[in-house]
Amino acid sequence: MADVVVVGAGNAAFAAALAARERGATVTMLERAPRDAAGGNTRFTAGAMRFAYDGVDDLRRLMPDLSDAEVAASDFGAYPEGRFFEDMGRVTEYRTDPDLCELLVTRSRETLFWMRDQGVRFQPIWGRQAFKVDGRFKFWGGLTVEAWAGGPGLVEAWTAIAAREGVEVLYGARAVSLIAGDDGVTGVRVKQDGRSRDLPARAVVLAAGGFQANTEWRTRYLGPGWDLAKVRGSRFNTGDGLRMALDIGAMPHGQWSGCHAVAWERNAPEFGDLAVGDGFQKHSYPFGVMLNARGERFLDEGADFRNYTYARYGREILKQPRQFAWQVFDAKVRHLLRDEYRIRQVTRVSADSLEDLCARLEDTDGDRALETLRAYNAAVMTDVAFDPNVKDGRGARGLAIPKSNWANRLDTPPFEAYAVTCGITFTFGGLRIDRDAAVLDVDLAPIPGLYAAGELVGGLFYENYPGGTGLTAGAVFGRIAGGSAGAAATGRREGR
Ligand SMILES: Cc1cc2nc3c(=O)[nH]c(=O)nc-3n(C[C@H](O)[C@H](O)[C@H](O)COP(=O)(O)OP(=O)(O)OC[C@H]3O[C@@H](n4cnc5c(N)ncnc54)[C@H](O)[C@@H]3O)c2cc1C
Repeated sequence: MADVVVVGAGNAAFAAALAARERGATVTMLERAPRDAAGGNTRFTAGAMRFAYDGVDDLRRLMPDLSDAEVAASDFGAYPEGRFFEDMGRVTEYRTDPDLCELLVTRSRETLFWMRDQGVRFQPIWGRQAFKVDGRFKFWGGLTVEAWAGGPGLVEAWTAIAAREGVEVLYGARAVSLIAGDDGVTGVRVKQDGRSRDLPARAVVLAAGGFQANTEWRTRYLGPGWDLAKVRGSRFNTGDGLRMALDIGAMPHGQWSGCHAVAWERNAPEFGDLAVGDGFQKHSYPFGVMLNARGERFLDEGADFRNYTYARYGREILKQPRQFAWQVFDAKVRHLLRDEYRIRQVTRVSADSLEDLCARLEDTDGDRALETLRAYNAAVMTDVAFDPNVKDGRGARGLAIPKSNWANRLDTPPFEAYAVTCGITFTFGGLRIDRDAAVLDVDLAPIPGLYAAGELVGGLFYENYPGGTGLTAGAVFGRIAGGSAGAAATGRREGR
């Protein structure tokens, strides 16, 4: 019998498994996916992780490989805890659970250091979170580091660390239910190779992701239309962990009607494709305009840095006729477009005039699109300087829907338009946990032997999400959950 069984093998699950090992527990992880598709949503990410840091000394501690020349060429700024709190409050409309938010923010730095101590490596996100100004990279949006080699690198690193520490991982092993009675949870029923069996355990950590890959649950909880969204990541996150816990009386928490969803290639497959990773996303809309099938703008593309708008704009695209939009750019901003615009798998139209471009926009009212773009061009505040590193206040004024920052006239051919739809990343609703990551029952009492971490924890995110927080939340609460489960199993409260 394993002391601790962890359900899942993504970032939260590995953090939990390693923290339980630090308490001397024997650990078995159950991964529903076969080995070549393992790693959950974590593997699809760029590995970006938001954490509080006070300056370059914290970054040097996290990334000892940073050279003096790299530091000299970069303005990393700082991201103090206060700003992390502010960002969480602002984007969730101050609904975030105060206890969970406090743990997330105040443990973010020590948790990334702990990951580094375990053997996970990090690097600055020069490519995506910094633009070069006067020869120096200036970081913006509170997001500065990513795991080495992105999500695939993070899963690879965690897998190697787990093997080194003697954690057992069973692949193709789907947890189907919890074994529970009056004394709490005492194991997991698992199905592997077509056979079901009981795995007894002193404690169980659920880290099996949200329910975004379950079309029926999406429609049931997020609402009509969500069955038409594309899933950005793993097809294995169908809400199993949530269902197993709810079945034994766990308390739901957070925004069950809410989710993280972004602009995503219109013709992307139904689920994520590991060969493309996050390349289907289209996050450079702050430097262009978005048009719907009626040829009209429908949101403020420059309301804030993309880190603070992208997670709620997928929902806005889903609300448009035929659930799609065009992102339109001109040649002036081409160098600012992220790499994901240069992959092969894009639905792109280009032309040397706005008239020709609009005529080529499939499924779209081209005449109205041209009117919209002309009106937009006339409204751009050209007297304000354009600066992609700050909220520059260069808007487009006097329009029914303003653009608040980074407005540029579309006047330099070739013009390009990219077709996007809504890609759902993960769901916000989940289980209710306490500060030890113990799962609470409907009387708000901890269920003995049951802990949870990652996407299936509810209460942190409402309406929106600051980019790079999912992995950090998984690591922070995974580490807490694994520590608690390990301590419950072995009686050792302190880690190594
Ligand atoms: C394309 C994309 C890009 C992203 N980019 C970023 C980013 O750069 N930074 C960031 O912070 N976040 C990012 N996210 C969000 C991030 O992926 C998640 O917040 C995070 O990975 C969730 O970690 P997790 O461990 O909770 O879940 P996952 O990593 O999804 O792990 C869940 C695990 O549970 C397993 N599982 C499910 N059901 C069962 C079952 N019944 N039995 C056994 N195992 C089961 C799954 O197979 C998987 O191994 C991105 C997501 C996507 C899809």
